[in-house]
Amino acid sequence: MLTLDQKIVKFKIANWNLWFVTRTKIFIELSDKQSIKCCCGRLATGLHEQNCTKFNKKVDHVTFKYLLSQLKLKHKVEISRRQIKEGKCKSIKTKYLWK
Ligand SMILES: [Zn+2]
Repeated sequence: MLTLDQKIVKFKIANWNLWFVTRTKIFIELSDKQSIKCCCGRLATGLHEQNCTKFNKKVDHVTFKYLLSQLKLKHKVEISRRQIKEGKCKSIKTKYLWK
């Protein structure tokens, strides 16, 4: 079994562009959420956040969770689309929801 950090490294390598773009956004979002202090207890200056192991780990974890849920959603949509194409799913609601 891979640890969470190993999974993140694997995911990062496989989806580098997606990872980089999303992580940058989440970094800014989490940085805005921190008030004066960083999650490690020190003063949250921009420079500190760039170098803080604890904060960067937090950003990695949040990014990973977010991307995983996005990919799962995408997968679900693809499955419903395929089912509609193959005529397996006749529900009008599903049909229009994913168009
Ligand atoms: Zn810190």
